[in-house]
This record gives sequence, C-alpha cells and structure tokens, in this order.
Amino acid sequence: MENFYDVIIIGGGPAGMTAGIYAQRAGMKCVMIEKAAVGGQVAITQSIANYPGFSEIDGFELSQKMFEQATNLGMETIYGEVTNINLKDEIKSVTVNSQTINAYAIILCMGATSKGLGVENEFKYIGKGVSYCAVCDGNFFKNKTVAVVGGGNTALGDIIYLSNICQKIVHIHRRKVFRAQDVEIQNYENIIKNHPEKIEQKLGYTVEKLLGEGKITGVQIKNTESGELENINVDAVFVAVGRVPQTDFLDGQIELLDNYIKTNNKMETNVKGVFAGGDIVYKNLRQIATAISDGAIAGTSASEYVKNIKKQHN
Ligand SMILES: Cc1cc2nc3c(=O)[nH]c(=O)nc-3n(C[C@H](O)[C@H](O)[C@H](O)COP(=O)(O)OP(=O)(O)OC[C@H]3O[C@@H](n4cnc5c(N)ncnc54)[C@H](O)[C@@H]3O)c2cc1C
Repeated sequence: MENFYDVIIIGGGPAGMTAGIYAQRAGMKCVMIEKAAVGGQVAITQSIANYPGFSEIDGFELSQKMFEQATNLGMETIYGEVTNINLKDEIKSVTVNSQTINAYAIILCMGATSKGLGVENEFKYIGKGVSYCAVCDGNFFKNKTVAVVGGGNTALGDIIYLSNICQKIVHIHRRKVFRAQDVEIQNYENIIKNHPEKIEQKLGYTVEKLLGEGKITGVQIKNTESGELENINVDAVFVAVGRVPQTDFLDGQIELLDNYIKTNNKMETNVKGVFAGGDIVYKNLRQIATAISDGAIAGTSASEYVKNIKKQHN
C-alpha cells in the first residue's frame, strides 16, 4: 500500500522526535508530521537551563539536535497540518496536505499552547519578562519582584514555586475566588499566613498593559469594579491563565480528561494502537524532560504493538 508506515507521529516537538528515535531504533518505519517548525515550543525558547546534560542551551539548537538524531535514524518528516484522523480500524489513517497516510500505530504528540493575556506587545516581551512557564523561567528572576496572573491550579502552583525563588510576588486575578483544587488553595493560603510579606494580592484586577522599554519593568492593572487603573513595578509577568491542548481534529475519538489525553503508564490511549505523549497528555509537569520521557515510552510501546500485529499476520 502506498503511503504506508508502521508508525505515524503527529507533532514534531520533543515528545514526537523522541518517539521517532525510539521507534526507528526498534526497527519501525516512521513518519513524523509537523504543521509549523520542528521543535515545537522548544524551538521558540531562547534559553533552557533545566535540561540535563546542558547547564544552558538555546531551544532552537536543542530542537535541531533532536531532529538530526531522529532523521539520521531514518525517520521521515512531512510538513503539514493533520486535519482528520480515522482510528477505528486496525489500519489507522491520517489526512495531511489533502493526502491520506496509513499506519498500524499512531502517536499523538501535538502539545499544548498557552492562552495569552491578550494585551498589546505580549509576545514581543517573551524572554524579556513575559513567561508562560514558572518552572522554566523562575530562576532568571531570583530575589526579584514578579507578577503571576491567573487563579487556577497552575497560577497557584506557580506562586508556591516562585515563593521559594523570588523576593515578592504580586498575584493578579480577575476574580476574588480561585478555580483550583482545595489542596492547592490551602498551600497558597499557608504561604500568605506564614510569609505575608511575600505575596501581594490584587484580586478583582485585570492586566491592561505591559510597561517597559525593551524589557518588562511593570504592568498596568485595572480594578474590575471601579475601573481604576494602577501601575505596579515588577521584573517579570508569569501568565497562567490556561492552556489549550491541540486535540481539535481528534473529534471525540480519544478519551480526554480535563481536555488532555488520558494515557496509562505505557502511554496507551483508550484506543488500541493509539499512543500519546508530551504536553498533550493529562499529567502534573509539562516540561521537555517529561515530554521526552513520554515520547520514549510511547515510541517503545507503539513498536511492541506493531511487532505483535505483524506476528499475528505472518
Ligand atoms: C516560552 C516557553 C519556554 C519554555 N521553557 C522551558 C524550559 O526552559 N524547560 C523545559 O523543560 N520546558 C520548557 N517549556 C515547556 C516545553 O517547551 C514543553 O513542555 C515541551 O515543548 C512539550 O513538548 P511536546 O512535544 O509535548 O509539545 P510541543 O513542543 O508543543 O510540540 C508539539 C508540536 O505539534 C505540532 N502540532 C500540533 N498540532 C498539529 C497538527 N494538527 N498537525 C501537525 N502538527 C501539529 C505543533 O506545531 C508543535 O510543533 C517552555 C515552554 C514555553 C512555551
């Protein structure tokens, strides 16, 4: 059959590329489909300081190294967006660039994107004070004053994490209540009780403007009740107002949990022959290290699955 592979990997971030490395090394014929640039979120990260083996590395460089490794092992790449998928038969099919591609197994690694604040120049300040990842960038603001925006689990978790690194955190949230788990709220309230100087709450406020020339020096916030504007000085703004997993084209064919793909410890989804890994799966920590771990497991599990199918057919 034309356009037939053992494994199709959707998404060319660290999870997808690692899945490709492991599946190719297990003797599979793999293709990775990427709609933008290989590397995913890593390719747009200037400096990575928590990837083991490199005290600091440029995200684009790290992505290229992963891509070269997978490509040298024989993994093929198709650039295009997967718009349709059919998972119900033993042979799965995927539509990309109006072409149908088939495989025994599929690995879903489409990642997740952060929702932004929606204010002017937000993306211009990424790497210059605007961050969507406290675990990734918190250390760059040691003993500084930072803002965290949001009121869910991620925002409260970020505040708890940053409270060990930064001098002060201004917590900005548009509501006065939080949409987080009780345990996260309890931990957050404990910090306020034990270290009241660490956290300044600005509840019932939205961010209107980012302030600073070339890098963030503050934010302008608006009181949602009075409409009053206020400028506050901060060295960074950590945005934690939600993330969007890229699951649109799955069209209800895969079981999700809180909008993320539900997997077991072999990175299997609820559909036979379909695996997932990286930021798109339901888990606690979304980082490169956890994405490559998922990718390694998904690549190995998918290869075992394909080998079993081939055995049954012989
Ligand atoms: C600004 C920033 C800084 C970060 N810094 C760090 C850091 O310092 N350390 C760290 O460990 N982590 C960091 N992270 C987090 C890390 O980048 C992610 O955890 C990691 O990239 C997740 O890898 P992934 O492969 O699951 O997904 P992604 O990297 O999101 O890759 C998914 C890929 O799938 C593609 N895709 C999506 N849908 C389709 C489709 N329909 N068809 C084809 N392709 C598709 C996307 O274009 C993308 O390339 C950072 C994230 C950001 C945004």
